[in-house]
Amino acid sequence: MDGMSVALSEEHRMIKDLVARFVADELMPLERAVLEREAAGQGYSLTAEEKAKIDAKSRELGLWGLDAPAEFGGSDLPVEAMVGVNEELGRTVTPYTPPPDSPNLRMLMLTCNAEQRERYLMPYARGETTSAIAISEPGAGGDPAEMNTRAVRDGDDWVINGRKIWVSRVGYADFTILMAVTDKSKGARGGISAFLVDKDTPGFNVLRRIPMLGGAYTYEIAIEDLRLEGWRLLGREGYGFAPMQQRLSTRRVQIGAWCVGLAQRALDMMVEYAPQRVTFGQPLSQRQAIQWWVADAATKIHACRLMVYDAARKIDQGTDPRVEVSMIKVYATEMAWEIIDHAMQTFGGMGMTKELPLQLMANRVRLMRVYEGPSEVHRMVIARKILNVR
Ligand SMILES: Cc1cc2nc3c(=O)[nH]c(=O)nc-3n(C[C@H](O)[C@H](O)[C@H](O)COP(=O)(O)OP(=O)(O)OC[C@H]3O[C@@H](n4cnc5c(N)ncnc54)[C@H](O)[C@@H]3O)c2cc1C
Repeated sequence: MDGMSVALSEEHRMIKDLVARFVADELMPLERAVLEREAAGQGYSLTAEEKAKIDAKSRELGLWGLDAPAEFGGSDLPVEAMVGVNEELGRTVTPYTPPPDSPNLRMLMLTCNAEQRERYLMPYARGETTSAIAISEPGAGGDPAEMNTRAVRDGDDWVINGRKIWVSRVGYADFTILMAVTDKSKGARGGISAFLVDKDTPGFNVLRRIPMLGGAYTYEIAIEDLRLEGWRLLGREGYGFAPMQQRLSTRRVQIGAWCVGLAQRALDMMVEYAPQRVTFGQPLSQRQAIQWWVADAATKIHACRLMVYDAARKIDQGTDPRVEVSMIKVYATEMAWEIIDHAMQTFGGMGMTKELPLQLMANRVRLMRVYEGPSEVHRMVIARKILNVR
């Protein structure tokens, strides 16, 4: 069941349907293997062989570079079209995003100079490289403006020292966007810069891989006298924070769309199961408790979907709907968490197993309630705007 749909242009509807078929035909069949590996403590990922096969298929279907510029071989789709794409991808627990991952693409498009464009943006946009972004530190996560990693000029070079933590993908990414303070007195307004760091650069030391919920991993990095040539400064010195925020917004809208897909999947599972399971002489679908979970889920998914499309359209029109994006980050993740929890409850003992995808879906959403800013920080952003306080 597609739930309540929104009016989409013919073109965007076709792309959404294409991704839905790709998810059903290529990703859903891999779920059992993904679940078994995670249950066996082998992490939440695809094997190289599985990934190569899906990459080939998604490429053949034209799903690479969906929102990359046409000049790099991309389809240049607006954010609005990507909402449908991400909603469909969110329905499966098979972890796969057709390259390139949108947030760093957006940040690189906003910041790269001609040389960086050639060396980093273009291969990334073509799906030939993977990337990470290192913002969070042991003492600064929800409030990244408090970061302490320092970049100091030394002739034409930069020398960087500090520590980063909870960074996704950095253990294997080809390059990392590293955020560092270049002028402590200016903070986020003119004092934080971005740098491009290649994998295995001396001084950029991945200390450990940290196991997270649901078989995910993040990494801790020690940055010790990391020497970078001057051209590796990404964007203007001191003005890394604004493009970084835009990058975070891209991910937050994407999270909103994923959550709509995740919640819709949980609702679909409830709707399929509830009429079949008879307790105390009646199917679960006849019980008010279950009916209200279903009704509330459908209502909230519809509301959230509209919120995500609204923000996407505003971004496409060139505005920066920061408050709406914070609302999405809070609402979508908490909505999906609640609906998945109700689905788990509806399935009883079966809902507590690692054979159903529900527990992996719950863990994915649980992580989303913290990364890209915890709910409480986004509520603060919303409230400050409404109350007009700092
Ligand atoms: C799976 C995962 C992947 C991640 N990937 C990356 C990555 O790729 N790159 C990267 O740089 N970082 C990454 N992070 C880090 C993530 O962005 C931070 O964990 C997050 O911003 C919270 O920072 P913190 O852990 O320091 O928590 P803190 O800032 O210490 O906050 C802890 C808790 O305090 C509460 N809190 C904080 N501030 C307020 C407030 N103003 N009002 C009320 N309550 C408040 C919230 O409940 C919050 O959860 C990732 C994290 C996870 C879990």
